[in-house]
Amino acid sequence: MVKAVVGANWGDEGKGKITDMLAEKADIIIRFQGGANAGHTIVNNYGKFALHTLPSGVFYSHTTSIIGNGVALNIPKLFEEIQSIVKENVPMPKILVSDRCQIVMPYHILFDAYEEERLAGKSFGSTKSGIAPFYSDKYAKIGFQVSELFDEEVLKEKVQRVCDLKNVLLEHLYHKPAIDPAELLETLHGYRDMVEPYVCDVSSFLDKAIKEGKTILLEGQLGTLKDPDHGIYPMVTSSSTLAGYGAVGAGIPPYEIKQVVTVCKAYSSAVGAGEFVSEILDEKVAGELRERGGDGGEYGATTHRPRRMGWFDCVASRYGCRLQGTTDVAFTVLDVLGYLDEIPVCVGYELDGEVIDDFPVTSKLAKCKPVLKNLPGWKCDIRGIKKYEELPENCRGYIEFIEKSIGYPITMISNGPGREDIIYRESPLKK
Ligand code: GDP
Repeated sequence: MVKAVVGANWGDEGKGKITDMLAEKADIIIRFQGGANAGHTIVNNYGKFALHTLPSGVFYSHTTSIIGNGVALNIPKLFEEIQSIVKENVPMPKILVSDRCQIVMPYHILFDAYEEERLAGKSFGSTKSGIAPFYSDKYAKIGFQVSELFDEEVLKEKVQRVCDLKNVLLEHLYHKPAIDPAELLETLHGYRDMVEPYVCDVSSFLDKAIKEGKTILLEGQLGTLKDPDHGIYPMVTSSSTLAGYGAVGAGIPPYEIKQVVTVCKAYSSAVGAGEFVSEILDEKVAGELRERGGDGGEYGATTHRPRRMGWFDCVASRYGCRLQGTTDVAFTVLDVLGYLDEIPVCVGYELDGEVIDDFPVTSKLAKCKPVLKNLPGWKCDIRGIKKYEELPENCRGYIEFIEKSIGYPITMISNGPGREDIIYRESPLKK
């Protein structure tokens, strides 16, 4: 049985916590896209961890954690991360890295920074982890696959060829120092030694696991609105954030994905630039939500950048859930809203004097204004509550309003950062 855990919004919905929770009953957890540019924050009995590359299942000794072929693999970062969790007494996780996974090269990180510098004010707000240059090279067919580290002849020739190309750009476009092929080859030998114990033919491993009836979780990064095709292009990430891509980025048949758990946050947040219709423009109001949000404030797990804050957006979330192929919504961080007398919710977009409820393309999105509806708050702390019926009436009202509006079943409600802070619910929308 394969399940996907993905985001409905701009990322940071709390996917890490939901994956960590579902991992308790899973055998394999696999990352299928993205790189070390975003991260998950996980709180468990070992402590608080920010994971950027490792799947959220690494804290359980019964699970195998896999870096799928769709991931942008930063090998030294992966090793740093393994070391950092082992240092906190987490038992050494079982880790496999796909032999078809491609490698983030040191120059990808440099090019990312140089390009942001060149674009200055018009930059994409990249986290400068090399992800965009990495995926560009992958599709330009000049990327390095993990398997190629083990073929010295291929490696040497390719290093020279790629350096010739990159050095033209470095010299003439960016006016930066050239890459020395011999030095790069040495670095790659180091990468080879670091990754060797983990390399595996992952699609074959998963084929066997599926046949044996194992439970497999596909763990997404970011959310629908950051998908390069369906998101707020060009302010998107460089690999698909959709559950459908999980099949490609892990190497499994699409029909094996039986459950798509789409994580949706009870309010909105976004990092970096880009259209954000339900954004709270009053900095005092936004600041309060930011400070109270998540677990210790809404700041990026990797970059520590303050996140932009917004009210729940029904238009964006309905679209976000639809594109994921949602079977279950996990509605998260609801406890944070307990301080508000009234909670605004964005129920439609006003575009050229008309109200629309379908999420439009970016050029139209830029002209949209939010149509807000105020729902009554519940004015208390809901952490610790385990049963749906025990939630305050206005809190249930908020959940049910949103469920009806997005049209996908909310079957899990997260009311705290911990694994156990979860309320399961029977949804009238669940077939
Ligand atoms: P991800 O990238 O989607 O995993 O999101 P983040 O790592 O940014 O997670 C959001 C933050 O919210 C983390 O600090 C989590 O510990 C925290 N979090 C997750 N679920 C809940 C919740 O239900 N309530 C609260 N208060 N915090 C939560």
